[in-house]
Amino acid sequence: MSNPALVQFKGVQKTYDGLSLVVRNLDLDIRRGEFLSLLGPSGSGKTTTLMMLAGFESPTAGEILLDGRPITKTPPHKRNFGMVFQNYALFPHMTVAANVAYPLTVRKVPKADIDKRVARALDMVQLGGKGDRFPSQLSGGQQQRVALARALVFEPQLVLMDEPLGALDKQLREHMQIELKELHRQLGVTFVYVTHDQGEALTMSDRVAVFNDGLIQQIDIVDRLYETPSNRFVAGFVGDST
Ligand code: ADP
Repeated sequence: MSNPALVQFKGVQKTYDGLSLVVRNLDLDIRRGEFLSLLGPSGSGKTTTLMMLAGFESPTAGEILLDGRPITKTPPHKRNFGMVFQNYALFPHMTVAANVAYPLTVRKVPKADIDKRVARALDMVQLGGKGDRFPSQLSGGQQQRVALARALVFEPQLVLMDEPLGALDKQLREHMQIELKELHRQLGVTFVYVTHDQGEALTMSDRVAVFNDGLIQQIDIVDRLYETPSNRFVAGFVGDST
């Protein structure tokens, strides 16, 4: 029988200092193909949750399943997820094409195959023909698109993003939000997106998980968060975006 959820968190807890839980008891199903945002104020546990999914942090308790199989102890590079973080820098001494090719180079993919896939990934983010530039010759928005192409180049089933547009100015950020949403629609892969920006989450997502104090307060489609917030925190936090 096929598993309906791509990822499941089951009773996941995390403490860094052994005293306070920053993720308290997380049960979360991530659906195949959805655009899910983890939304909440600073310190609410969103990044920790994403880092546990990526494999850079281990849960203190509980289990994470991918396609029904435990991955809690699988190292990050074996999870094969695409990742884009705000400070996930490009290599300045390498061309755009070499930056995008990097995940394939380290996986020892044949050269001809790499060239084809890099060209396709650059086209996806509208940077076709810019492969021989260096990152410093591109704008901030273009650099972020290169990071996105690098995350997509090995066709991962899951793409993890942590405030990827945080360093961009407002106009460019809004433009990139629309591009990301469109890219998600075209690719049909699963996106998990961390943000503290209500407007951003509500614009792009199929579903939003609202975090506060290490707990998911509500996970729902955007309309329902507005219409039937499950508590005062959700009503206040989501309502703040208007
Ligand atoms: P958010 O992404 O919602 O801002 P985080 O998951 O980054 O929240 O942080 C949740 C809590 O865990 C915060 O109190 C933060 O200070 C703490 N924290 C995050 N990373 C570490 C770490 N590596 N070591 C110790 N404490 C951490």
